[in-house]
Amino acid sequence: MDTMSPSSEEFPWHLGVHDAHCHPLERPNTFKELTTMKTRTVTVMATRLEDQPILQKICEEQGPNNSELTHDTKIVAGFGWHPWFSHLLYDDTANPLPEDKDVVDDENKRVDHFTAVLVPPPDKPFALALEHPTPLSWAMAQLREHLKASPLAMVGEVGLDKAFRLPEPWEEGQAVAQQERDPERTPGGRCRRKLSAQRVSMDHQKAVLKAQLKVAAEMNRAVSVHGVQVHGVLFELFRELWKGHELKKESSKNKRKKNNQASQGESSNQTDITSASSKVLATPKPFPPRICLHSYSGALDSLKQYYGPTVPVDVYVSFAWLNNFRGSDSASARAEEVIRWVPASRLLVESDLHKISAESDELLECMTRKICELRQWTLEEGVKQLGRNWWTFVTGSDSGWEVKETEKPK
Ligand SMILES: [Zn+2]
Repeated sequence: MDTMSPSSEEFPWHLGVHDAHCHPLERPNTFKELTTMKTRTVTVMATRLEDQPILQKICEEQGPNNSELTHDTKIVAGFGWHPWFSHLLYDDTANPLPEDKDVVDDENKRVDHFTAVLVPPPDKPFALALEHPTPLSWAMAQLREHLKASPLAMVGEVGLDKAFRLPEPWEEGQAVAQQERDPERTPGGRCRRKLSAQRVSMDHQKAVLKAQLKVAAEMNRAVSVHGVQVHGVLFELFRELWKGHELKKESSKNKRKKNNQASQGESSNQTDITSASSKVLATPKPFPPRICLHSYSGALDSLKQYYGPTVPVDVYVSFAWLNNFRGSDSASARAEEVIRWVPASRLLVESDLHKISAESDELLECMTRKICELRQWTLEEGVKQLGRNWWTFVTGSDSGWEVKETEKPK
C-alpha cells in the first residue's frame, strides 16, 4: 500500500479511532479480528438480502453492549440495501405482496419487474437468471425489526449510483461452484463477474432509497449514504423530504455556533439544544436526523448546499483512503478541497474495506493523517475531534463522549 509521506509522529491509536463505514460482512470470518484490531469501533454496513441476517446475529452476540454506545462498543450496525442491489427489491408499495415471503418466485412478475427497473430492459433469459427479487414491503418490515432490536443501529448502506452496471448473471451452477471455492465469502456479491450493459433506473433507485429513508426518519436513526455521479439529484431528494421543515433563521444561527464550538475541540456535556437531531421527537419528522455522505466524491459546490442555513439535518462527510485518494489526481484534489472546507465537527474517517484486518487499520491511519495534515491539526487533536464527531453522528449528541485512553499499543 502506498502510504502518505512518512511522518515521525506516532499514531495515537490509544485515543480511539472509529471506522465510520466498512464492509466486513463480505468476509464475516474477519470479525474475529475485533479483539486484535487497533481501531476501536467499526460501523458495519449491510448491502443486500444475504448479509442482513449475518449482521443481525453479530448484533445479538454483542448482547446488551449493543444498546448503548460506550467506549467498549466494538460494532455499530447499519442495516439497509445498497443501490447496487436495488434491482433486487420488488416495489410492491401499490399492491403489497404477502408479508411472509422474502422472494418473488412468479416468472411473469420477475420478468415484468426487471423489464421495468433495468435500463436497457434485459431479454427474458437475463431477467430469469437474476436472483429472485425481494418484496420491498417485506424488506422494510425486516429493516424495522433489525433497527428495533439494535437501538444504536443506523440505516446503511443506502444511496444512488448513476455509474454502476449489473454484473452478468451467474450461469447454471456457477453461483454454487463459486460458493464452494470461497465458502467464507457472503453470497450475492459480484465476485469479479463481467459487467453487463444493464443499469438500474434512477426512478427505481430513488423509490428504494426513499422507502429506507422513511424508516430511518420514523425511527430517528442516522443514515450512511452512497452517491456516485448523482450529487445534485441526491440533494434534491433530501430537500424534498425536509420541505416545510426548514430551520428558521434563529435556530440556524445556533446550529452554526455549535459547529464552531465543536471545531475548537471544546467538549460540552450540557444538553445540546441546537443540534437538529438531538431531540427525542414526539412526532417523527419525514427525514432522518443525521446523514453521512460516505466517501464523498463530489465537488465542494455541490456539498455546500447541505450546509445552507435552513437545512434541518446534521450532515457528516466521511473519507476513505481507497476511494478518495487512490484514484485520479483531480479526485484527490477535490477531496482535499472538501476536507479543508467541511465544518470540523462534521468530518469522519472510514476504511470502506471488505474485511477487518491490519489493512483496515492502516487505511484509517492514512486517512486520518491526511485529514490532520490538511486541517493543520496535530494527530492527537485530529483523532479526538474525529472520535467525537463519530460519537455524535451515531447517537445524535456528544453526551457520554469524552476521550478515553486505552493502553498504548507496544
Ligand atoms: Zn460502502
